[in-house]
Amino acid sequence: WKHAPGHFRALLEMSRFHGDKEFLVYDDERITYEEHFRRAAALADRLVEKYGVAKGDRVAIAMRNYPEWVISFSAALAAGAIAVPLNAWWTRQELAYGVSDSGAKVVIADGERASRLTAAGVPLIVTRGEVPAGARALTEVMGEVRADVTLPAVELAPEDPATIFYTSGTTGRPKGALGSHRNLGQSPMTVAYGLLRAVAMAGKDIGAAAGVRRVSLLTVPLFHVTGCFSALTTTMFTGGGLVLMYKWDPGRAMELIEREKVTTLIGVPTNAWQLMSHPDFAKRDLSSLTTLGYGGAPAPPKLLERINRNMPERAASNGYGMTETTALAIGNGGPDYQARPDSIGLPSAVVDVRVVGPLGEEVPAGEVGELCVRGPNVILGYWNQPQATAETFVNGWLHTGDLARVDDEGFVYIVDRAKDMVIRGGENVYCAEVESALFEHPAVDDAAVIGVPHDELGEEVGAVLRLKPGTSPAPEEIRAFLAERIATFKIPDHYWFRDDELPRNPGGKILKTRLRREVLGA
Ligand code: ATP
Ligand code: MG
Repeated sequence: WKHAPGHFRALLEMSRFHGDKEFLVYDDERITYEEHFRRAAALADRLVEKYGVAKGDRVAIAMRNYPEWVISFSAALAAGAIAVPLNAWWTRQELAYGVSDSGAKVVIADGERASRLTAAGVPLIVTRGEVPAGARALTEVMGEVRADVTLPAVELAPEDPATIFYTSGTTGRPKGALGSHRNLGQSPMTVAYGLLRAVAMAGKDIGAAAGVRRVSLLTVPLFHVTGCFSALTTTMFTGGGLVLMYKWDPGRAMELIEREKVTTLIGVPTNAWQLMSHPDFAKRDLSSLTTLGYGGAPAPPKLLERINRNMPERAASNGYGMTETTALAIGNGGPDYQARPDSIGLPSAVVDVRVVGPLGEEVPAGEVGELCVRGPNVILGYWNQPQATAETFVNGWLHTGDLARVDDEGFVYIVDRAKDMVIRGGENVYCAEVESALFEHPAVDDAAVIGVPHDELGEEVGAVLRLKPGTSPAPEEIRAFLAERIATFKIPDHYWFRDDELPRNPGGKILKTRLRREVLGA
């Protein structure tokens, strides 16, 4: 194959030089870079030889965060196929949708997912667990893995499609986001830029910062872009280790941080929050942990305050990104984040941003409008959805659907999702702002703000709160608390208290449509 910078095979090839270094850790399983390369190359070969996978064919992956997820992803891309990670939380029907929407030629699944995919009508390769009738076990497909295995020959250009990641489905049915090899190839750059900016702000250079092996604990699924790009490709790029978890569990996460000397936590804001709320938190030795990177959902400023108090000297960062931006697009870390804990920071070096009004015109600095992003990280478009593509990708600019403002120095502030904003008697109430104020209250453990239909005002503001155990503040008390922080029209009119967790997707985002249905019955 021809070396072409900017596509995944270049990254895969480079990662092989890390040889015996540990790449993936899952429970007691450890996979080195060399092993990963060999197994990925061998599987790529079988996909081509046994399954007739050709350039541009779709290979779906339906798995929890097992090492085979990574091997399958690498194999699909090395074979020139488009990798289609499916959401492991999906039901039988949803998985069937993913398979038929993407037109997958073959699906690589774990036993649990395979049992839900038997009727999907595509060849199934099962990586671990039970192999249903008609499917084949990965070990059988792979056969012997030779030490001199090479990648199958395929001509790829940076603009060729590489991935279809489904969006989280927070605002509607998940859309297939078609990403190119160029998108993928640049993905470690946006993260590295943030890391190196923090190094530079500390007065160091990359040489001075080296010397400590970066071991990341991934707390979110690989089938979303944060896991795949902010964690996986960046780890491959830097030769670090990646510790995988079957599912997020703060107690287990702390065990792994101790055992594996984890330096970096990569996940969503709630992970860091729940870690600090865990009863064992103070008993654990988390001294190896130097970096907490989170994003993908709003991070209330209170989170940084708690980190500074409970885990001083740690570098915390908040990253903004979308499936459509191949993960990170805008990030805040180091002294910048300390100074502006309510901002998502500055655009990555490769990213352009602008904020536009309803007619697409740029709004003056400081004013709220829709955030638009342009750059080599913006995907090609939506798979099979020409209309949504035309609406969202306009003259090279991705319209994010997020409302934001940019200050004089270029720092970006997300104020709300356009679809979440509550309009109370003509006044815009940004849920994220009200939620941030609610998080300040000592009794509040989790908070979501929603619009509640109202005849006269159109909408009123509602707050759904999960309280810390043993607390029971009255709505009046919370109102008084908020009155010192936000304008009166933003103070919620309705309060619901609950003991159970608020419904969130694996990306850490509150499922507001479901929450509205739960509390309003509509
Ligand atoms: P769907 O597009 O299917 O409705 P989704 O938008 O939740 O789902 P993702 O691509 O996973 O799917 O999430 C991107 C969105 O997450 C952004 O548009 C933004 O609303 C939110 N987001 C991401 N990072 C941050 C952050 N650091 N702060 C606030 N919001 C964020
Ligand atoms: Mg979206």
